[in-house]
Amino acid sequence: MKRIVVQKFGGTTVGDPEKIKLVAKEISDLTDLGYSIVAVVSAMGEQTDDLIKLARSVSENPDSRELDMLVSVGERISISLLSMALKNLGKDAISFTGSQAGIITDCNHCDARILRITPGRIKESLESGKIAIIAGFQGVSEKKEITTLGRGGSDTSAVALACVLGAQFCDIFTDVDGVFCADPKLMEGTKLLSEIGYEEMMEMAYLGAKVMHPRAVEIASRYGLVVRVKNIDNYFKEKSGGKTTLIKNTPPSLEGVTVKGLTTDNEIILVSAYFETDDSLRFLRYLSENNVNAKNFSSEKSEKYFRLTLLLSSRQLNAAREAAKVFGCVRFEVSEDFSLVSLVGTGSGNSPEIMGRLFSILMNNGSKINMLSASEVKVSFLLEKEKASSVLKDLAYEFGLFEEE
Ligand code: ADP
Ligand code: ASP
Ligand code: MG
Repeated sequence: MKRIVVQKFGGTTVGDPEKIKLVAKEISDLTDLGYSIVAVVSAMGEQTDDLIKLARSVSENPDSRELDMLVSVGERISISLLSMALKNLGKDAISFTGSQAGIITDCNHCDARILRITPGRIKESLESGKIAIIAGFQGVSEKKEITTLGRGGSDTSAVALACVLGAQFCDIFTDVDGVFCADPKLMEGTKLLSEIGYEEMMEMAYLGAKVMHPRAVEIASRYGLVVRVKNIDNYFKEKSGGKTTLIKNTPPSLEGVTVKGLTTDNEIILVSAYFETDDSLRFLRYLSENNVNAKNFSSEKSEKYFRLTLLLSSRQLNAAREAAKVFGCVRFEVSEDFSLVSLVGTGSGNSPEIMGRLFSILMNNGSKINMLSASEVKVSFLLEKEKASSVLKDLAYEFGLFEEE
């Protein structure tokens, strides 16, 4: 059997027919080097956003099973087009939906987890010399329902397939050169990381660096799979692959503490729910049973009511509101005024020196923070949205995260 390579092509890399043809050429060249290719593909451009908007145009709160049925269409379009483009280059290719590829998930619509993969059809097609093109982001539940893995989930499809197929490597092709110290679209000039360990990458991804889906990093770390994040444009320019970031096991430093990256998450909300009785644990358990996990939680007794404050991802708002109603909530307030800002780096959250420097920057900016939490690998806090970009810039200077001139 030839060596297997899994390559994932993000939405922008297959954004229009011309780009799909370029991707097909890239895959075709790699097969000529003797590799068996499994290509995992996202929906073209912004198509998933457009499909979600379409759903909202008929229902304010679309049913999650039907939403999965709808958004999974985006990836069906891109896989079939890529397969056609490859055939046009004289290559034998075959496209598979998540279900056909044997990606079995739990039943949690719109945020399903992969339970197992039965890649029989993929293996058969590789053995018969075909290129396998797989729809990212989707699977099928044991009840035979179409599911999706959460926004950005094609990375997770690719990494999971690479692990079960024993792939030589897994390439994530996107629209930036790799993983930077901070989002290069928000902060120009930060350093490109040539490599990053699983734990730090996982934290960055969970805390808002959307270049990798967090669960993809989790799976890669369990299997020790090396993931290469690359810019599709560099790849076409220099066949060597250009710049890249390797996500892999990195040797731990002895005691040196560095800030590796900064992240901001603007898709969080702060919810305050007021109740007449204190039933917070039952309420939290109910939320978990409905797949709502608070990133932070506090409770306090005010004069008349018990107030629960929850930090949630904004897409969990409707579920949280419904749950609060079930528990007899008397007042439900939502604030969208904050960003969750985080410093990521092994040892950072335990370092008084780093914390001191962080607080100085915040003071110099006249910022107020809320809900600070620190661990071995990160420090996170809520910051007023309008202060986020200037604080982030100052933090990047302070911790040497900009490229030197
Ligand atoms: P794709 O469609 O290829 O999956 P995504 O939009 O999901 O692409 O992820 C790539 C984007 O991630 C980049 O365009 C960039 O704006 C954003 N991003 C956020 N944080 C980082 C970071 N630290 N390094 C690189 N990119 C980042
Ligand atoms: N198309 C899906 C999304 O936009 C999955 C992905 O791109 O990874 O979220
Ligand atoms: Mg993505």
